[in-house]
Amino acid sequence: MAYSFQVAKIRGIPIRAHITLVILLPAMAMSFAGGTGASALLFGTVMALGLLLSVALHELGHSLVAMAYGCRVRQILLLPIGGMAQMDRIPRLPREEVRVAIAGPLVSLALAGAGFMGFFLLTGLGQWNAGSTALALGALNLMLFLFNLLPSFPMDGGRIFRAWLTPRLGRLEATRIAAKIGRFIAVLFGLWGLFHGNLFLVLIAVFVFHVAGAEYRMVRMQEQPLPPPLFRPPAGPAGPRPLDDWEISVGPPPYGRSVPPPLVPPLKPRRSLFEELFRDWH
Ligand code: ZN
Repeated sequence: MAYSFQVAKIRGIPIRAHITLVILLPAMAMSFAGGTGASALLFGTVMALGLLLSVALHELGHSLVAMAYGCRVRQILLLPIGGMAQMDRIPRLPREEVRVAIAGPLVSLALAGAGFMGFFLLTGLGQWNAGSTALALGALNLMLFLFNLLPSFPMDGGRIFRAWLTPRLGRLEATRIAAKIGRFIAVLFGLWGLFHGNLFLVLIAVFVFHVAGAEYRMVRMQEQPLPPPLFRPPAGPAGPRPLDDWEISVGPPPYGRSVPPPLVPPLKPRRSLFEELFRDWH
C-alpha cells in the first residue's frame, strides 16, 4: 500500500506503518504524557509505542487463526485509528469466521492480564513507575478488548454477531441487521462525542457508520452477483482477480474493515469525505 513502510515481518506477514503515524505518534506520546517532564515524556512514548504494538499483536491474532484456515494474509497495516490485516479472503463458515474474529480480542485480553500481573509484580518489587506503566498498558488493552466486542461493523463483535445470526437468517439478512445496529451505535458514539467536544470520537463514529454500510453493500454484491456481463473478469491466464478481504481493527479506535475494489461500478459512486482522506484503502 502506498504511503506506508515496513516495520517488521512475522511468519511471513509484513507489518507496515502508515506514513501519518510518523507525525501522529509524537502527538499521541505527548497526549499520553500529559506533561513535559522527562519521566512523563518517557511514559508517553512507551504508551504510544505500546498501543501500536498491542494493535499489531491483536491483528496478528486474527491473522494466525485465518492462516490456520488456509487464508493468505498479505500484510498488517498500522494506522492512527487502528490496525488492519489484509487477507485474500476471510472464512465464510460462521464457525470459522467467529474463531478468526475472536482471536484478536482474546490477544488483547491476554495482554491486559499480562499488564495487570506486571503491575502487581513490579510494584511488589518497589518499581512504582514501571508498575504504573504496566497498569496503564493493561487498561489500554482491556479497552481494546471491550471496544472491539461492540456488536457493530467494523468491530470484531459485529462479525461475531453476524455469524451468530447467519444460521437463522442467512448471511445477507444477518449482515443487514448487524450493519443497522452498527450504524445505530455509530450515531450514539457521534452524539456522545459532539456533546463532550471529543472530535476524535466523532471521527471514529463517522468511520464506523460508513464501514457498517459498506459491509452490507459488499455482502450484497457477494451474495447476489450482478448479471454476467458486468461480472466478466479481464481476459488472461490469471483469471478473475480475487477479492481482497480486510480484517480491520481499531486502536482506541475501532477495528475496521474496508471494502474490496468493486468488480462492478460502485452502487454509490459519490465519495464520502472519509474516502477522500483515505483513498488508497479502496
Ligand atoms: Zn480485531
